[in-house]
Amino acid sequence: MPETADSIASDYLVVGAGASGLAFADALIQEDPDAELTLVDRRPGPGGHWLDAYPFVRLHTPSAYYGVGSLPLGKDRIDETGENAGFYERATGAEVRDYFAEVASRLERSGRVRILTEHEHLGRGESRAQIRDLGTGAVREVEVRRKLVDARYLEVSVPATHEPSFEVAPDARLVPVNDLPDAAGPETRYAVIGSGKTAVDACLWLLENDVEPDRIRSVRPREHWFHHRRHYQPLDLVGETMESISFDAEAAAQAADVEDLFARLEDSGRVVRLDPSADATMYRVTMLSPDEIDALRRIEDVVRLGHVRRIEGDRIVLQQGEADAGPDVLHVDCTAVGLSNAPATPVFEDGRIVLQQVRQNSPSFNAALIAFVEAHRDEDAERNRLCPPNPYPSGIGDWPGLSRRTWEVEQRWLREPDLARWIGETRLNLLRALPEHAGEPAVQASVERFLQSVGPAAERMRELEKLEGE
Ligand SMILES: Cc1cc2nc3c(=O)[nH]c(=O)nc-3n(C[C@H](O)[C@H](O)[C@H](O)COP(=O)(O)OP(=O)(O)OC[C@H]3O[C@@H](n4cnc5c(N)ncnc54)[C@H](O)[C@@H]3O)c2cc1C
Repeated sequence: MPETADSIASDYLVVGAGASGLAFADALIQEDPDAELTLVDRRPGPGGHWLDAYPFVRLHTPSAYYGVGSLPLGKDRIDETGENAGFYERATGAEVRDYFAEVASRLERSGRVRILTEHEHLGRGESRAQIRDLGTGAVREVEVRRKLVDARYLEVSVPATHEPSFEVAPDARLVPVNDLPDAAGPETRYAVIGSGKTAVDACLWLLENDVEPDRIRSVRPREHWFHHRRHYQPLDLVGETMESISFDAEAAAQAADVEDLFARLEDSGRVVRLDPSADATMYRVTMLSPDEIDALRRIEDVVRLGHVRRIEGDRIVLQQGEADAGPDVLHVDCTAVGLSNAPATPVFEDGRIVLQQVRQNSPSFNAALIAFVEAHRDEDAERNRLCPPNPYPSGIGDWPGLSRRTWEVEQRWLREPDLARWIGETRLNLLRALPEHAGEPAVQASVERFLQSVGPAAERMRELEKLEGE
């Protein structure tokens, strides 16, 4: 079909130019020399949710294995000062945005990728899709010669673009976390609403900006299990990561139930909660450094009365009670869901690819992996065997399935020489330096502990999944 003002053609139409769409496109053009792609995104630039992130956001994992396969992010340095001292550097939000802008421009310079920002994909059309230019309103047809790639299935929800689920009286003060730096004042008290990573970041930002802990209240419906940042380190520190993976398998092999599993993980230092006396049920695979944990524990005013229903001038009304507030209290909305809770669906379907998590906690790696499998396998059944979806977790009951699926699929990858080689080489693989450190006694001990435990662990997790599902 010749291209006109009303219609374009492309092998792949990728909906979403966030980290996932870009990592997929980057890998596919490396692995399939003929593929041409068009990426569309509603946002004004590439990079997805990072364009709307709060000003003090940074990656919570190291930059060393984030982004796309063909372009490093940062310099793979270990920080020497600050709360991240001793760990691999983590890009700021601005650095991530600049990086994705550079990625997009390199992809376009390849001559095989077209990126249309401020363009919306309309509906579910596959071989003939429609996109709308949000600037002009013009609608164009896209002839999709091979596949539609849904790179928005796990779209992130951030406070800047979501609607809070509670009411706010006109005399109450509420800001989205993005506005916190501008709204902060010397006499202000703060009520940070939310249980997740964004709320934690807001509290840390306040503490770093010399707000005394007794002027900060944390309103959190659920307690969160966090990971220790030392357990997500690549390259020269990969031994720490391997050790943590072995702790997971060992705890899982012996766990009586999910609560016992988390008690074992906590004993090994694999997971941590801010208040060890409070029941923690939330698990979103977020991580903190020891300094951050210590800082957050200085905040003693914690409201645990369920979800917020209404904020009034003098009080905050929650599911299970209320707490006083006042005109000097600035409520900070950190309640957006963040990672999507979308259920699993096949990654490869007729004429369609739905990008999802496969290996836990590796969004960039997973999108590139799916592109590799698309390029090098012919049958969707085989592709799906190598890329089974693994939904993001939200609570402790999701840990057994999340880990078991990761262990099982990693075993399958090892039996595929081309895939195993690619995984061994891609910068997006957290464990890529493991072979270089395999001779170190501590690493050997971790690998042995993992290999001894992983079979029984997967079996035990299947049983717990069944119990959790009953
Ligand atoms: C604050 C924060 C920090 C994080 N830090 C890390 C980290 O350190 N390490 C890590 O591995 N992961 C991290 N994550 C996880 C995060 O999910 C990924 O890093 C990644 O950025 C998600 O990218 P995405 O492309 O899947 O989704 P998004 O960034 O949400 O991109 C999806 C895109 O699809 C577009 N879109 C949706 N519908 C349409 C349509 N109909 N037409 C056109 N476009 C459409 C949207 O505009 C959006 O830009 C973090 C997440 C958050 C929220």
